[in-house]
Amino acid sequence: MFKLLKPNLYVARLEDIPLEQLSQQGIRGLIIDLDNTITEWNSFEIKELVFHWFKSLPEYGLKPCLVSNNSRERVQQVADRLGIPCVYKAGKPRRKAFRKALEILELKPEETAVIGDQVFTDVLGGNRLYLKTILVVPMTTREFIGTRFMRRLERLVLTHIIKEKPGR
Ligand SMILES: [Mg+2]
Repeated sequence: MFKLLKPNLYVARLEDIPLEQLSQQGIRGLIIDLDNTITEWNSFEIKELVFHWFKSLPEYGLKPCLVSNNSRERVQQVADRLGIPCVYKAGKPRRKAFRKALEILELKPEETAVIGDQVFTDVLGGNRLYLKTILVVPMTTREFIGTRFMRRLERLVLTHIIKEKPGR
């Protein structure tokens, strides 16, 4: 059980993800969370750095797909602005949405990494399907009320199971 909560990589920000290295490891696709991973929670502002990061993905042969538990309106709008596919109301950590994203990307689990800021949705869901999992530090502490309780559990996991500081 604990093994399923452990990410393969833990980084401070999106820009700290070693894209070159992922590409060398045979990763071709990225399943990316929305809230507090690429924008602040429920914000439509996509920071310049994040835009730039998305633009750089093809250089490494990486295809992105947004996968979020948030609403269609919210997820679709951000995905359209980035010009990438998405799965909304994903119900992470359930596997269904991750499978759907793999279908969209036309990739196998071993060719795909999950990037997200939550252990109990992004990391757990990705690990259940044997995807590579990358945990990022949330952009802000502001978030959905239901998430706050999970964050307390998450802190325990970070302290006792993951036991490492985010790399950069
Ligand atoms: Mg998130």
